[in-house]
Order: sequence, then C-alpha cells, then structure tokens
Amino acid sequence: MEGASGAPQSEGSGSPAAAAAPSRYESQKRRDWNTFLQYLRNHKPPLTLGRCSGAHVIEFLKYLDQFGKTKVHITGCPYFGHPNPPAPCACPLKQAWGSLDALIGRLRAAFEENGGRPESNPFATRAVRIYLREVREAQAKARGIPYEKKKRKRTSVSSTVTTTTLISTPPPPPPPPPPPTDGPGPAVTAATPNVTTTAV
Ligand SMILES: [Zn+2]
Repeated sequence: MEGASGAPQSEGSGSPAAAAAPSRYESQKRRDWNTFLQYLRNHKPPLTLGRCSGAHVIEFLKYLDQFGKTKVHITGCPYFGHPNPPAPCACPLKQAWGSLDALIGRLRAAFEENGGRPESNPFATRAVRIYLREVREAQAKARGIPYEKKKRKRTSVSSTVTTTTLISTPPPPPPPPPPPTDGPGPAVTAATPNVTTTAV
C-alpha cells in the first residue's frame, strides 16, 4: 500500500528509483524527510536546515494537523472524553499523538543520517518532547483514552447486581491505545531455548 499518506507528497527533486526495495520504515523515513525539506523550502521567511530549531519542528507538526484523521474533541463538545462517540460532531481532525511521536522518531534519525550533528538535532530538543507530551495528554482527555493507567485492583466482587438504571452504569473499559505501527519488522522468535519456567 503505497501513497496512502495524508501528507502532501510532491515530486522530490530527482529521487532515485529504489535500487533495492527498502524496508517500510526506511521508505517512510525518507518520505517524511522529503516532506520536511519541502516544508522548509516553502517556509516564509525561508528556513534552512541549519537554522531550524525545536520551535520550527513544532510549527511543522501543527501544520501537519490539517492532514490528520483523528477526531480530537474540543472541551465544549458533548463527546469530549468519549472513546466511541455515537454520532459525528464538528470537532477538528488532527494528527494522532502516536503518529506524531513515530514521525519525530524517524525525522530525528534522518537528520543525523543526513549529516546533522546530534547536539544540534532540532527533533531531539526538549521543546519538541514537551509538545508531544502535551498533545498526548490533551488527546487522552479529549478521547477518553487512559494512557496512564492507575487502576486499583478491586477484589471484592461479592454479588452480581442486575440493575436497569441507566444513570449508574459504569462506562465500558476503553480500548487500549494502538501500538505504533512501524516497528523494524516482525520479531524472529524461531530458536526458542529450552527454558523451564516455574509456575507460581
Ligand atoms: Zn466532538
């Protein structure tokens, strides 16, 4: 499945036809890097990679929100905090936190692979980390997804209560956040050593 990305993908300046098929991660990383370079070229005032700061990276992430596909409810929306709203609403679509987090990881690697020095890597700055954390927390609240689980184990299940009141029904457990989809490939678990696990 190629070219399903929401980000603008314009003609790269002479990208070579893939010699050996790169991995999905590698090709995605190259696409992201080209998108970012394109963004710099179109930036007003003009911006070079060497003068790019964490603030510019955050600006880039906000720019990408317009291509997002994740509904993030505003605080005034009746579905704010609902993981599965029963009806559509007019809240904006944004980039999901997980996508941004994975994107920054790829761009951080691409920056250094393209000659950037680690100590001046704008994708590794504190400002970007803080921004990502804020996005994660805001989206967790807006969509009712508990990224930080603080569940206390309740062992006192004494009686099965069949109640028909609609008011006091506990909400269903929200689904877990999706894992990042761009791992380095399937883990090879072929040679399993003969481990004896002691059951409790
Ligand atoms: Zn909404």
